[in-house]
Amino acid sequence: MPRQPSNCRGCGCQLSTIQRIRGICDNPECRRKDVNFQQQQRRQAALQIIRDQIPASWRTSTSVAFLPRNTNRLVPLSETRIEALRQHLEQIITEARALPAPAFEVVKETSATTNGVDAKQSALPVLDAACGLCGGHCCATGGNSAWLEPNTIRRLQWQRLPVADTRIIEHYLGFVPEVGYENSCIYHAENGCCLPRTMRSNVCNQYLCKGLSEVVQGLEDGDGRCVAATVIGVAPISIALVDALGILETHKPAGKN
Ligand code: SF4
Ligand code: SF4
Ligand SMILES: [Zn+2]
Repeated sequence: MPRQPSNCRGCGCQLSTIQRIRGICDNPECRRKDVNFQQQQRRQAALQIIRDQIPASWRTSTSVAFLPRNTNRLVPLSETRIEALRQHLEQIITEARALPAPAFEVVKETSATTNGVDAKQSALPVLDAACGLCGGHCCATGGNSAWLEPNTIRRLQWQRLPVADTRIIEHYLGFVPEVGYENSCIYHAENGCCLPRTMRSNVCNQYLCKGLSEVVQGLEDGDGRCVAATVIGVAPISIALVDALGILETHKPAGKN
């Protein structure tokens, strides 16, 4: 059993017997900084498990990208959720009509982080494949509004041809799946997002998670190949060897069906 530290790993102060179990003192700053330390510990543990399991033929591709994994279950979409989306659409369409005409026809929608992935890299087909492995973990943030905002409607409004508000609402509602993931976006179904890409918000089209930036970095470091693993806690759920165009091979982690 490893010896318990007698000093805080944040500030170095002397620890009480109880504090030694955690290895940090009660100072909020030490606790805040320790979140990163804990994440690194979990990452190292997961990395070891993955490295122990990947086939020998993949071992030259040493970079491992960590992806999250959607674990929600599929349930029928409730009328309450559909009604909430309808009300949201009514509101943003009304607001879109009241917006002033944009200068130079540029509509400024809310932006989202790409975690350092540039525009050219964001078009790599492997990123879609990686999102497929993950199953849309980030779509949990979409709720019943799917990040749609007045400026999304304004951008589309139907490429300058007049379309009635009710028609726009029905068009959006027409893409709601019958069955979707519980506690996720109303458009999030078994095979991914049900909304055509052009109708999605800018946030949805632009966002790239940290895991995807690790895939891009991993491909660069690994001479065009890397391992992408979906992980919950320290347990790998799926492991794949990928290149820029997508998945080359998959490996089932021990204990997964
Ligand atoms: S962006 Fe990241 S979290 Fe979202 S679906 Fe893709 S891999 Fe998953
Ligand atoms: S609209 Fe599509 S991409 Fe955006 S959060 Fe919902 S399911 Fe995800
Ligand atoms: Zn401390």
